[in-house]
Amino acid sequence: MGSMRMVLREDLGMRLPEIVDPKQVTGCGSEFDVCPGAGLSIDEISRELYGDGLRTSLELGRYRASYAAHSTDPAVLAQASSGGVMTAVAQFLIQNGLVDAATIVRFEYGNGTGPRPIEYLAWSLKDLMAGQGSKYCPTSVNLLVRECMERGGKYLFCGTPCQVAALRLAIRKHPELGVLFPLTMAHFCGGFRDYRQLDWIIRKHGLDPVDVEYFRFRGNGQPGGMCIRTQSGKMVEEPYPQYLRDCPVPKLKRCTFCIDGTGHLADFACGDAWLPRYMNDDCPWSIIIARSEAAVGIIDEMARLGQLAIEPLAFEDVVRSQKSNLTSKVKRQYKRMKLYSLVGTTMPKWDVELPCGSNTYGGELAVLLGKRLYRCQTLMRIRRRLSRYRTLVLMKRTLEALSRSLIRGDKAL
Ligand SMILES: Cc1cc2nc3c(=O)[nH]c(=O)nc-3n(C[C@H](O)[C@H](O)[C@H](O)COP(=O)(O)OP(=O)(O)OC[C@H]3O[C@@H](n4cnc5c(N)ncnc54)[C@H](O)[C@@H]3O)c2cc1C
Ligand code: SF4
Repeated sequence: MGSMRMVLREDLGMRLPEIVDPKQVTGCGSEFDVCPGAGLSIDEISRELYGDGLRTSLELGRYRASYAAHSTDPAVLAQASSGGVMTAVAQFLIQNGLVDAATIVRFEYGNGTGPRPIEYLAWSLKDLMAGQGSKYCPTSVNLLVRECMERGGKYLFCGTPCQVAALRLAIRKHPELGVLFPLTMAHFCGGFRDYRQLDWIIRKHGLDPVDVEYFRFRGNGQPGGMCIRTQSGKMVEEPYPQYLRDCPVPKLKRCTFCIDGTGHLADFACGDAWLPRYMNDDCPWSIIIARSEAAVGIIDEMARLGQLAIEPLAFEDVVRSQKSNLTSKVKRQYKRMKLYSLVGTTMPKWDVELPCGSNTYGGELAVLLGKRLYRCQTLMRIRRRLSRYRTLVLMKRTLEALSRSLIRGDKAL
């Protein structure tokens, strides 16, 4: 740890790892063993964590209980993506000394770029509320592991399913990290696009990303909406997920081959309650899957204290609420991965047998060709811009040469 750092690459719209100390990084060392990008033994790790006796499925992983739930604090609900449960649970853990702080993410502004997420440790409700709302873009909460190691103490690790998976792989190598992170919490996850999408959303409304002083993807109700505010006082709002339609930036490749839509390796996994019963309610609701005994005890205690409103939710309803994401990640994955393998794409490796779903190779091929076509169009657009640029450069050089020769002529006179 410490031999690599994440560097913001605006041209690619994400942070990429950069080697700080080449002597420590061999290309086959421990830093690569804990990267979930190559896939992982998700079922084996889940069994190690939660035992063999629990109900399990490819869609939801191993779990003890599932609930529809929401925070009972109106201030937490106002800023939340859905029911504010991630913030409420983190607050309960900090308040009761079960952890010292939580790893979360907020937006940063004014660095000469559009809004970019920054990971930080939240020690109080105020800190937690500053990071509320889903960041549908790359984040780097795993960078906080080092800071937590240096500080010591106990932390709630909160992140995407793959970030939790990276932590689980690290704990396998360094068991002492398990003491540092006694509890983990993941979002349900349908994947995301890079920061170019974020800038695209802002530009679509005729605004300059650099001028933005506040941005949120979600908030203010279920499903709530996106909000942009600029330094010059302009404000735009658009409902979720309407503002994401027709975005030309593709989903990250790794997300396309991800099978973990519901945070299989986290004690608490939280998502939206996309079910009519909850969508039609005045109050926004989330879903919580509790995998460990500790997680079940915490949810029950929060409900008893009136900090969470909960209703038990059947397994089938959780799956139904996530239908499109789980269809893509579980049911369509086998044929999709086969097809991409045939065209030479390296696939993440999983230790589970994916079902040969009812999708067709033809259908998946059409999707793949559509994506390739899109990439070609983007390249062509860039080339066109470049050739326009080259023409401009040529014109500029001709004018310069002309003016030079005129000046020489002048001097000769
Ligand atoms: C990339 C992504 C994809 C998602 N896909 C789905 C989906 O397909 N289906 C579904 O039902 N739900 C999905 N969710 C979860 C959903 O958007 C809500 O986050 C969830 O319902 C919890 O809402 P809440 O009101 O309890 O959270 P809040 O009270 O708003 O708290 C959210 C917490 O998560 C942290 N956070 C937000 N984004 C990130 C991030 N990218 N990385 C690390 N930490 C972060 C925040 O800092 C905050 O602490 C996704 C979330 C993300 C970030
Ligand atoms: S879809 Fe999978 S790989 Fe992509 S961010 Fe979510 S958990 Fe990570």
